[in-house]
Amino acid sequence: MPTAKSYAASSATSPLASLQIPRRDPTERDVEIEILFCGVCHSDLHQVRNEWSAVPTTYPCVPGHEIVGRVTQVGSAVKKHKIGDIVGVGCLVDSDQTCPQCQANLEQFCPHSTFTYNSPDKHGTAPVTYGGYSSSIVVDEHFVLGVPANLSLAGVAPLLCAGITTYSPMRRWGDLKGKKVGVIGLGGLGHMGVKFSHAFGAHTTVLSTSPKKKESALALGADEVVISSDANDMQKHAGSFDFILDTVSADHDINAYLNLLKIDGTLTLVGAPDKPLPVSAFGLIFGRKRLAGSLIGGIAETQEMLDFCGTHNITSDVEIIPIQKINEAYERLLKSDVKYRFSIDMASLKSE
Ligand code: NAP
Ligand code: ZN
Repeated sequence: MPTAKSYAASSATSPLASLQIPRRDPTERDVEIEILFCGVCHSDLHQVRNEWSAVPTTYPCVPGHEIVGRVTQVGSAVKKHKIGDIVGVGCLVDSDQTCPQCQANLEQFCPHSTFTYNSPDKHGTAPVTYGGYSSSIVVDEHFVLGVPANLSLAGVAPLLCAGITTYSPMRRWGDLKGKKVGVIGLGGLGHMGVKFSHAFGAHTTVLSTSPKKKESALALGADEVVISSDANDMQKHAGSFDFILDTVSADHDINAYLNLLKIDGTLTLVGAPDKPLPVSAFGLIFGRKRLAGSLIGGIAETQEMLDFCGTHNITSDVEIIPIQKINEAYERLLKSDVKYRFSIDMASLKSE
């Protein structure tokens, strides 16, 4: 069986380290991709450290679901992609493609979906799927996306998760033009949320714990920044938002943000802290407010998002790192010390 170089965690407390992993030979519907860049999502860190009680981690764990690369082989039935194409792979690599959710282009909710890493591997290549911190990957063509030619590849990689996760709930809310939109947390997801909200013509406010991010938030397209520890400033915005996207990765008080919504306003959670978030009934019922959630996006919508980014010249702001810096990058992610996404240059794996 072919193999690939990767970086993997062998337990919740061990650093990621070099590991040789098996990859299947492409079947007739598969595309083999040489990975060029892989973004570093906070979900990678949650999973590597086994922080989600709902999704326990199987080790070794090779994370990475923001993948951009070049097609190196295609199966005989593949129609969408050819050798040499630049393509992307996000959080999904398979689904049954027959259930009502798949038929509605919502593969992320298929009961038989396979996530890019830490999902049972239905091909039996390994106990679980292995993600993009690796030199190559083999994926069913339905889950392989086309990448617009005008965009820089290191900055495209994060669109495959951070991009679609913020684009999808904003699109679902409706036409944001002229609406007041808040983005909580200016990290990997948050900075993409700001870019999309701005591109959709919304009045965009960043709600951040980090005063030092103020200037760059404005440069990303925010119209204003509220530092959430400033009670006066928060109070000034009470009852004023149409839509708020919550991208926070850690425990926090969502009632403080529900208070900022207008009557009938919506707060959509995309951040995934493990601990339940207590909600004040009064905070919701006084104002007929809505609290919602959203998970990445389907494949067709992910392609729509990539095409939108091509048209509007949108990519993620990235700090490119070699794979050897990944453990340091995780520590910095926990301190909100990245502008605004790490993107791993996979050429660095060649020396392992
Ligand atoms: P990230 O880059 O670490 O950004 C998270 C941001 O949250 C930080 O930059 C920080 O922004 C803010 N924050 C951190 N700790 C906080 C705290 N204790 N209180 C308030 N704010 C805090 O992470 P990410 O990659 O964007 O991912 C964010 C979350 O989304 C993770 O939980 C991840 O697993 C989840 N996720 C969900 C989906 C989905 O489909 N729903 C997809 C991808 C990721 P400030 O410095 O501006 O405050
Ligand atoms: Zn992610």
